[in-house]
Amino acid sequence: MKVLKFGGTSVGTVASLTNVKQIVENQDEPVIVVVSALGGVTDMLINAARTAASGSNDWRPIYDKILSRHQDVVFGLVPESRQEEVWEHVRLLLHRLRDFYRGVELVEDLSARVLCRIVSFGERLSSYIVSHIIEGAVHFDSLRFIKTENWFGRNIAVTELTNNLVRKEFADFSGPVAIVPGFISTDRDNGDITNLGRGGSDYTAAIIAAALDASMLEIWTDVDGFMTADPRVIGSARVIPHLSFLESMDLCNFGAKVIYPPTIYPVFHKNIPIRILNTFHTDAPGTLITDAHHVPVSQPFRGVSSISDVALIEIVPAPGFTASALRTRTLNVLSKKGIEVLLSTTPVGDNDTIRFGIRGTALRQSEEALREDMLGECEEGSRPRMTHTCNVSTVTLVGENLKTDTGAACRMLDVLVAAGMAPLADAPGDSGFAYTAVIPADSLTKALALLHTRFLE
Ligand code: ASP
Ligand code: MG
Repeated sequence: MKVLKFGGTSVGTVASLTNVKQIVENQDEPVIVVVSALGGVTDMLINAARTAASGSNDWRPIYDKILSRHQDVVFGLVPESRQEEVWEHVRLLLHRLRDFYRGVELVEDLSARVLCRIVSFGERLSSYIVSHIIEGAVHFDSLRFIKTENWFGRNIAVTELTNNLVRKEFADFSGPVAIVPGFISTDRDNGDITNLGRGGSDYTAAIIAAALDASMLEIWTDVDGFMTADPRVIGSARVIPHLSFLESMDLCNFGAKVIYPPTIYPVFHKNIPIRILNTFHTDAPGTLITDAHHVPVSQPFRGVSSISDVALIEIVPAPGFTASALRTRTLNVLSKKGIEVLLSTTPVGDNDTIRFGIRGTALRQSEEALREDMLGECEEGSRPRMTHTCNVSTVTLVGENLKTDTGAACRMLDVLVAAGMAPLADAPGDSGFAYTAVIPADSLTKALALLHTRFLE
């Protein structure tokens, strides 16, 4: 049994869904198909909700657009004999959605809980429709079996419980096709509708694949696979035919937008291969991700990824705060707030300045949390000094051979320095398979081009 996941662009239009139908109906073993909302619909659902919360009824044209997108697909692809019946159900769901918007507009308030309920309509609608487009398909509702718990304000999948529920739900499934909404879930304690975070349909698919020991997880998307660099920036970027789990994890964590980073963990632990495939280019072999692969030692890097809009926080140690103690403490504070640290430099001496790269959007919250933590303990004047630099980017080279080729990171830095782009900070990733440099945002394109030419062509 395989698990296939189709993203928003794959299920976005009548034309793309025609490809999906063909791909799924051509499978020769039972498949579980996880689908995203129709492309762009999640954004529209959120925009309309925020508009309604401001007391404006301008959510209506957005809602009308959502309605017509679904109507096109129902009347374009559901067999004629069942169109009315399917549309009736879709209309009911859409009317419920409209009621939510009316309510939000009336009270001019949008809680996280209500927003979760509103965004869930995207996948509820798409999965229901797709289950009536693909022959022999049966709909399974992830709200029943993907469970989350609240962790510092975020919804985190509860692995054990979810695995058991998934196994129970699919115990009698023998094919040919199960259709499952991605992304959406429910809270284990109060049953509220939650979700796995933006892009989370990949994660739903991985959780199901791991729970059921699937033979393969296929992520069907709109690109040919993982690339050596972002092809919109680097014209000569190539598809990477084979990656290890850890390499793909690092490429994603450091900016490659091919899959949602948490996706890799569940299948990695079960050693289930992932294949990235293109719904619009079904002949392309894509990228295969497995636990091991053989790359010549002379090739330390497999790909380069980057993140724009990064902020760099610098903290200068003070008496009573050695650099390494300060680093541990800072990492703890940020982790408790659920703030992702993209890189952190390792101090050598007690007085070394420590540097953290975080997303620019998390800067204010990070500084507040750090200030609060350090203020509690020390007198004015003996506090570690904290400054930040905005508008920087991270550029990361990834490859398992980096672990054995100890000079590779230096060669990367040399290339940047020689081109007048001395990094503001640099550090290895936790896995040891990635090396990241922080550079001014306006140098990013040049840095990517240089590193790609030097190491990946
Ligand atoms: N529809 C959700 C989103 O746009 C989940 C997904 O597509 O994976 O974030
Ligand atoms: Mg996605």
